[in-house]
Amino acid sequence: MNSFLYDIIGLIAGVCFILSLKGLSHPRTARRGNLLGALGAGIATVIVFFRADEERASSSNLYWILGAIAFGVLVGVPAARKVQMTAMPQLVALFNGVGGGAAALVSIVEYMKLGASASTAEVIATVFTVVVGCVSFSGSIVTFLKLQELMTTRPVIFPGGRFVIAANLVAVLAVAGWVISALGTNPLLILAALSLLFGVLFVLPVGGADVPIVISLLNAFTGLTVAASGYVLQATLLIIAGTLVGASGTILTRLMAEAMGRSLFGTLFGAFTAKPQDSGGAAETRPVKSGTADDVAILLNYARRVVIVPGFGLAVAQAQHTVRELADLLSAKGIDVAYGIHPVAGRMPGHMNVLLAEANVPYEQLSEMDEVNPTFPQTDVALIIGANDVVNPAAKTTPGCPIYGMPILDVAQAGNVIFLKRSMRPGFAGIENELLFDPKTTLLFGDAKASLTKVVSALKAL
Ligand code: NDP
Repeated sequence: MNSFLYDIIGLIAGVCFILSLKGLSHPRTARRGNLLGALGAGIATVIVFFRADEERASSSNLYWILGAIAFGVLVGVPAARKVQMTAMPQLVALFNGVGGGAAALVSIVEYMKLGASASTAEVIATVFTVVVGCVSFSGSIVTFLKLQELMTTRPVIFPGGRFVIAANLVAVLAVAGWVISALGTNPLLILAALSLLFGVLFVLPVGGADVPIVISLLNAFTGLTVAASGYVLQATLLIIAGTLVGASGTILTRLMAEAMGRSLFGTLFGAFTAKPQDSGGAAETRPVKSGTADDVAILLNYARRVVIVPGFGLAVAQAQHTVRELADLLSAKGIDVAYGIHPVAGRMPGHMNVLLAEANVPYEQLSEMDEVNPTFPQTDVALIIGANDVVNPAAKTTPGCPIYGMPILDVAQAGNVIFLKRSMRPGFAGIENELLFDPKTTLLFGDAKASLTKVVSALKAL
């Protein structure tokens, strides 16, 4: 393929990526945006094989590349198809980490090929790719372990932690300088190992509410890594795609940090100064007020305004269709119904919006936190379905706890609070929720879908 044609097709793929981001910015166009992104990535993958570059065209690596693609398809497609919606964030964390790691590996190989002929700019780009790619890889793996609850979701803080991470950072910078000035594969591999360690140390102390911000930041890192590896490989499309991911990830990180009332610096390094919390593992023996589906139906039936607060448990129970049925029933009775959406409810940005859109809940019924909070004093019932951290008053009252400072949905201001959950277990941040013991709170224990189904039947019978 001549290089002009190659560039034009590459440009088309780049335009697909941009239109994809535009589409993804609204739920109505998100599906089309996703498909456009996939089309762009497909075009970008295929045209590389037709590049007018003798070395690449005749490369004996062709079979390796095709084998790797086949392997990726065989593993990736079933994984993406089978994954439960609730496990999607973990999968995204893994894919993201693997992307960063791959970019770092490619840069190391290219660097070994270039040897002493590498220009300073290429060496700097390589060092950048290796450092950021390795941090992104190991950091994403720790995030995966936290999201999958294979390790504690609370901040992991150890004595002298901030000195260890500071020493690690200094070592990374020193070895980076060594690679740039002295060149050599061994220093580059040492740099990769130190960066992997830094990624782990960087994410371990982040807990609870701050995990989403870190996921988004690591995603932005991966984008920057890919852009830098595009420079090393002289591949314009990688530079375009990586820059888009880096820029959009950075914007998302800033928006999430703002929505959570956090500074980015405080999020990343604040945990080093935090005191370890008690484990929260002790069985809670204080009494709570639990009710039946009939009790809940009566409370709802006589309400004038109900705010539904969905959380991660709604996704686990896959109760989005049942909740819509309940909301429709209440609306038909003339009750004012709104959904209060917290920016980090669930396990990924926009999780609740996606879930409720699946059940065709009108987008206009979803109220963001700032919009819904002032209405709680006029709300008769706050119906909390599988949410915990996002309504936990400890975020306001308990300095030093992992969610302290995070804005919450002020459900305690409502006349009655109903929690639908299965047990007294805490949420992702692993901390007790005092609201469960409040006299105005009623707990309906059980899987959210089963409980909602019973409430709907009871409401129909009234
Ligand atoms: P939480 O994790 O705080 O609470 C979920 C609640 O759902 C638990 O109390 C659990 O209690 C209940 N639950 C689980 N399964 C079911 C079920 N089948 N039926 C009924 N209840 C169920 O969720 P929130 O949405 O309130 O908060 C999200 C948390 O996740 C925040 O800490 C946030 O920082 C974090 N996070 C968010 C990300 C994002 O981008 N949105 C990414 C990563 C982390 P029980 O077990 O007793 O049923």
